[in-house]
Amino acid sequence: MVEKTKLPDDLGHFGPYGGRYVPETLMHPLQELEAQYFAAQGNAEFQKELSYYLREFCGRPTPLYYAERLTRHLGGAKIYLKREDLLHTGAHKINNALGQVLLAKRMGKTRIIAETGAGQHGVATATVSAMFGLKCIIYMGELDCQRQELNVYRMKMLGAEVVPVKAGQRTLKEAINEAMRDWVTNVRHTHYVLGTVYGAHPYPLMVRNFQRIIGDEARAQILEKEKRLPDLLVACVGGGSNAMGLFYPFLEDASVRMLGVEAGGLGILPNQHAARFQGGSPGVLQGTRSFVLQDGEGQVLLTHSVSAGLDYAAVGPEHAWLRDQKRVEYSYAMDTPALQAFQLLARCEGIIPALESSHALAAVMEKAPLLPADTLIIVNLSGRGDKDVAQAAKYLGY
Ligand SMILES: *Cc1c(COP(=O)(O)O)cnc(C)c1O
Repeated sequence: MVEKTKLPDDLGHFGPYGGRYVPETLMHPLQELEAQYFAAQGNAEFQKELSYYLREFCGRPTPLYYAERLTRHLGGAKIYLKREDLLHTGAHKINNALGQVLLAKRMGKTRIIAETGAGQHGVATATVSAMFGLKCIIYMGELDCQRQELNVYRMKMLGAEVVPVKAGQRTLKEAINEAMRDWVTNVRHTHYVLGTVYGAHPYPLMVRNFQRIIGDEARAQILEKEKRLPDLLVACVGGGSNAMGLFYPFLEDASVRMLGVEAGGLGILPNQHAARFQGGSPGVLQGTRSFVLQDGEGQVLLTHSVSAGLDYAAVGPEHAWLRDQKRVEYSYAMDTPALQAFQLLARCEGIIPALESSHALAAVMEKAPLLPADTLIIVNLSGRGDKDVAQAAKYLGY
């Protein structure tokens, strides 16, 4: 059996997934990035600087909070929340944005670019760029700019230039295309901060490693609080970075089960959801081979989710591999249960979760009541819901 923490291989493969499917002009920059990343990863000074800013600027470690009232309300397993929502800028995205911008600085890059969907990754990248005085350009689909106006203003306030992308569906996929085009053209002084465990090697590996702090902390915290490992980890899966971050440090612990929750949208019908493991199949999209929602001709399908951060047609390659290995189980939550979970956590615990995280909570609402009281669940609360309040109010009929 392959040790699950030993992948990807040298070419970025997770079994049949991953790799580097890019135009030739990007091969050299990706190899350069890979070499520089490994050098930084092994460099004590870099690690010290990263830890310093994670603690002093981002607010790590985040608490592992016992959700006592939610546990009582659901009447089963004991539920802990990993509070990534308490981080600066309100989601786990800043763990990765900080790591990559520090790396870019080390590489002597002066210009930072990123794509963003809901805007959380754009805000995190603009924030860290402002803190280090670097020029920052964020590509965002024109439709997403309209849907997430607040985050557009936040990025502009932080000094970033926001470029609305008018092509295609005018959402995340097109924003990634534009960012890649910019990177090819300006690679000498520009670093592309990709926001999740996706894209060409080394991004899935690098982003996972910047996010594994979530699982490393959670592991130490649960051992301290409960003197044992958890039974079940639950996280929502967009590209898959908050889930990989939580799962990775537990992958070799056979007793720890893991559940990734995708966006079931309006139901598992073409164009109505973003659950790649329900209607998807293996394919190549934006630099990597993974599970993609596509038609018989390989044309990428439209997606839908109430949560913009989960609304993407492909999933990180490591997740596809972990699913094949049956190490992680994947389910989905539809819009309505996710909104109910959003409401429940707010009322029950005084915490307004991100709509993305609400998908993980919806799965917990379903599972926890069926499990014995001595079962320990850790849910990744990947972000806070301030950005989603207006949208949720509309759906919930306020
Ligand atoms: C972006 C985002 C996600 C989805 O991205 P992953 O890479 O799957 O983690 C989930 N939750 C929040 C709060 C986000 O901002």
